[in-house]
Amino acid sequence: MILELITNMSLLTAFLFLSNQFHIRKPVTTTSPLYIRLAIGAAYGLFGVMLMYFSVHIADRIILDFRTLTIMASAFFGGWVSSIATTVLIVAGRIGLFGGITDSSVVAASNAVAVGIACGVFRAKFRSFWPYWLSGIAVNMVAIIWSLIFLLGSRSLAYLPLYLTVLALGGVYVAYMIGFLTRTNALYAQLAKSAGTDYLTDLHNHRSFDTIFNELFTSVQQQKLVVLSLIAVDIDHFKKVNDTYGHAAGDAVLQQFGQVLKRTARSFDTAARIGGEEFAVLLPDCPHDMALQVAERIRAAVEAHRYALPDGRTIHITASLGVSTYPGVPADELLNGADQALYEAKRTGRNRVCSAACGTA
Ligand code: GH3
Ligand code: MG
Ligand code: MG
Repeated sequence: MILELITNMSLLTAFLFLSNQFHIRKPVTTTSPLYIRLAIGAAYGLFGVMLMYFSVHIADRIILDFRTLTIMASAFFGGWVSSIATTVLIVAGRIGLFGGITDSSVVAASNAVAVGIACGVFRAKFRSFWPYWLSGIAVNMVAIIWSLIFLLGSRSLAYLPLYLTVLALGGVYVAYMIGFLTRTNALYAQLAKSAGTDYLTDLHNHRSFDTIFNELFTSVQQQKLVVLSLIAVDIDHFKKVNDTYGHAAGDAVLQQFGQVLKRTARSFDTAARIGGEEFAVLLPDCPHDMALQVAERIRAAVEAHRYALPDGRTIHITASLGVSTYPGVPADELLNGADQALYEAKRTGRNRVCSAACGTA
């Protein structure tokens, strides 16, 4: 019996870890697309059926497995859609594969349905983790008490304490595991995002910019991308902002500058902070003329914005921009070309856009 119990727990642990692969990049929730919620429900349902093959034999004709825990887990992720899918498979598996319609299979099936409906409702009702799981475990236990008494009468009293203890511990174990994996996934996602995000402006940082640039560069080499523009941006006389208003004010300006840049670039462009007050925008599929227009729009927006300082005052700043475009400029010269154009913009008076191909725009 102990061996069978350990087998059940090990299968459960392995399944939770493996199915967690679905959740790592994008967690499955009650608002995920329907087919995903159905797929999760089906996966847990099939796993529930598999668990029945490894049932724990507590005594003659009295078996125990963790199939109802798979319904709880399924409903936890995908709500009632997943819950129904898992329940249907478990009911079909219990009746179809384990002895047809008998007293015990009907009782077991109605148990699964009760847990399935209850967990679907609890998932919609409880926003927090433990109220959901503890309610699910409680319903599971009530259903088990009812079925054992129904099937065995007073004989059930001999088995109920063990049955309930194992189910309660199993339920808490699954809840703990899912909670642990969910937290780890969230931390992983947060870490992955912050590794590529500039803490001050929330734009891409230099590392993320390099990665995206290299991807686009590869697309260009494979001729999947035929046009690629790059805008280099540098705030004019930014040192003066720091010297006049302090470093904190400089940071506030940089942060707002990032917002202006993000909302002025096209939604599918990559805006990045690649140095202290130096920024870059990657514009895939954007011809040179259009990139110059985007750059001019950025320049005008930067100039028009009133930057709020921590002490309540507002200031204006300007920026200089350099634009280069492949295929006019070789792809491996794009950064250099945009930098040269930016240098030209600084040299010829700042607050302007210069082009790597044709001088001042
Ligand atoms: P130019 O018009 O030629 O670009 O002049 P500039 O003053 O903007 O350029 P310079 O390179 O001389 O100075 C850049 C300044 O940006 C120096 C540094 O104090 C400031 N800076 C760089 N990173 C940060 C930052 O994270 N926060 C703040 N507040 N200032 C920064
Ligand atoms: Mg500068
Ligand atoms: Mg600079």
